[in-house]
Amino acid sequence: MKVLVKKTTNLKENVREIFSEFPTLKKLKNKKVVIKPNWVSPRKSDTGVTTDFKLVEQVIVQLKKGGAKIVIAESAGYDFDPRETFRILGTDYFTKKYKVPILDTRDCPTKTVNIDGKVLKKIKVPREILGVDLIFNLPKLKTHMLTGVSFSLKNLLGLLPLEERRKAHTLGIHQAIVDLGKFFKKTAVIVDGLTAMGGCGPVFGDVIRPQVLIASESALAADLACCKILKINFKKIDHLRLAREQMEFDGLEIEGIRDFKIKKFDLPKVSIIYRGIYRSIFVLEEILSPFFKKSIVAWAVTRFGTMPFILREKVKDKKELIRICPVRAIGDDLEINFEKCRFVRCLRCYDKFPQAVRLKGFSKPSE
Ligand code: SF4
Repeated sequence: MKVLVKKTTNLKENVREIFSEFPTLKKLKNKKVVIKPNWVSPRKSDTGVTTDFKLVEQVIVQLKKGGAKIVIAESAGYDFDPRETFRILGTDYFTKKYKVPILDTRDCPTKTVNIDGKVLKKIKVPREILGVDLIFNLPKLKTHMLTGVSFSLKNLLGLLPLEERRKAHTLGIHQAIVDLGKFFKKTAVIVDGLTAMGGCGPVFGDVIRPQVLIASESALAADLACCKILKINFKKIDHLRLAREQMEFDGLEIEGIRDFKIKKFDLPKVSIIYRGIYRSIFVLEEILSPFFKKSIVAWAVTRFGTMPFILREKVKDKKELIRICPVRAIGDDLEINFEKCRFVRCLRCYDKFPQAVRLKGFSKPSE
């Protein structure tokens, strides 16, 4: 299985070259293609969290050139507000400029299908995604506290509505990811490593800037190649170990890997207790979901997860600090309104004023 590793020099040219290298991407006339970026939270792409708009844009340009019909399908993570996430990221850029519709996978018509996986048997899938010719997966090169890494196979989870994501966590996230990988077989992948995230990903880890794209027609091959270039033993990543055992695989043929070196990429250090607690909360929510509509997971994460707080004495530009918050959560007294911030946590305040804004909570960038 071929994988291209491209050090980015000219993004437009690099994406064009990728399209010319893979047979699937040469036959696009009238094909229905679903682009799946990673827009899990409103944090900008240069923080290593979300797929870079510049990459999505170049993929759209090439798909349109080939005559494909395109939809973008994505929704924010469990503990983020999907509408605010799209608004703050500015995803309407693609609807306005390229007339590409964006399907919010947390809020769209679904159909129950039998996917016959090991843990996921029948699941609800957005109707719009069923029967498409290609899922164009554009994940970020980053870590994940629960699954070790979040490359292309893990990124597929965002195609499902929330209740199915919860089911996946409850039944066993690693096998559920593999079940999805086997179901969404028709795929092309470009992993966005323009910026990437090590440490406590997927949202609050440490930014690195590898400036690389990893492309393949196989999600598994792309993910294994990512492990290789980051010097991660894929057998230590449960869903990749399972995927390697269960998914079609005829060897890795990686081109361009010699041109690429990365200095440091740390996996998250997460205790079994943390994982156990996290899973238990998902199980509890699954049990209570018929009676209790609010998400216990989102409640817990926004209570105990990463939140900013302001060191008043260190604020040099109060006006700008207040202005930069996209949901006006910072008051004149420099208090952060928890209710406004908790489902957004874009960290624009922290990214712009790291001296004056600090973070508290379980997962946060190394300081
Ligand atoms: S307070 Fe900071 S993290 Fe919270 S929404 Fe505003 S800018 Fe984002």
